[in-house]
Amino acid sequence: MRNVIILGSGCAGNTAAVYTARAGLQPLVSIGHEPGGQLSITTEVENFPGFPEGVMGPDLVENIKKQAERFGAEYVWGSVDQADLSKRPFRISIDGNWEETRTLIIATGASARWLGLPNEQKLVGRGVSSCATCDGPFYKERKIMVIGGGDSAMEEANFLTRFGSEVTLVHRREQFRASKIMLDRARANPKIKFLLNTVVEDILDPSQNLVTSVRLRDLSTNREWEQDVDGFFVAIGHIPNTKAFVGQIDLDEDGYILSKGGARTNIPGVFHAGDVQDRIYRQAITAAGAGCMAAIEAERFLEAEGH
Ligand code: NAP
Repeated sequence: MRNVIILGSGCAGNTAAVYTARAGLQPLVSIGHEPGGQLSITTEVENFPGFPEGVMGPDLVENIKKQAERFGAEYVWGSVDQADLSKRPFRISIDGNWEETRTLIIATGASARWLGLPNEQKLVGRGVSSCATCDGPFYKERKIMVIGGGDSAMEEANFLTRFGSEVTLVHRREQFRASKIMLDRARANPKIKFLLNTVVEDILDPSQNLVTSVRLRDLSTNREWEQDVDGFFVAIGHIPNTKAFVGQIDLDEDGYILSKGGARTNIPGVFHAGDVQDRIYRQAITAAGAGCMAAIEAERFLEAEGH
């Protein structure tokens, strides 16, 4: 029987592991299907406090893991595939191995939705990004492209005009999912050029290990052309990793965990941390803070139960 199982090894899960391990709770951490979470696929992180020269995303998350291990956190490979939260102890299956636990911290994150283009994954971190806040400053006076027609795409396009020499927003339709205010703001920004009814066919050039251009297709005319691009930002939404909890825990209509205040879910003893609940901030530092909150809640819960 575990005191605490933490699902996910991104900033949120690893920080929860540091706190619960240091409190002597010997947490078991399931590494998840993206070891290290989204930081593991970024390059340099310049906005995590405490690193005046910046830090590489994979190093940052690995260091938090080492810090947790120093206090006795145990990491296991694998992801949650089933869970029974109907009674305590909670039962969690990690790649088919069932574990029992008194408390659970869900830090499984939200994965960026990608376009699924042939070269896309080869160029992630090499010009392809899903996070303007993280990677925008690397594209000062460069050509930037943003994909999507929702609020995220508008927000990212606006933000990226601070850096890029030009920002082209590519959307597959003429209608937008974005709210009027966000769309109006993007339309009023002279640095943003809209390319509507247009899809990206592929990103070049994997042989240079760098984004150099994209191949586009106008859906109304079927015309294809190539356009030079340095930074390619995909902003077509995120998918929270909550499949194993559907029907067991309160989720919103898009599958994000509904918070009941602090790090609490609707089930006493089950806590959330990071992007699996947060659709607004999604930063390494906010995820780390949320991991700390969930750990403190778990500690207090166990203490109140006499463990
Ligand atoms: P979203 O509203 O679901 O929009 C996703 C956009 O991506 C849509 O325009 C969609 O096109 C496009 N898309 C999806 N799959 C695609 C594909 N395979 N190829 C090309 N385009 C594709 O997602 P979001 O913009 O991330 O927003 C999510 C939620 O967060 C929303 O509720 C939003 O209001 C909120 N949010 C709010 C703010 C803010 O207020 N500051 C900022 C960001 C997000 P179609 O329209 O054709 O389906």
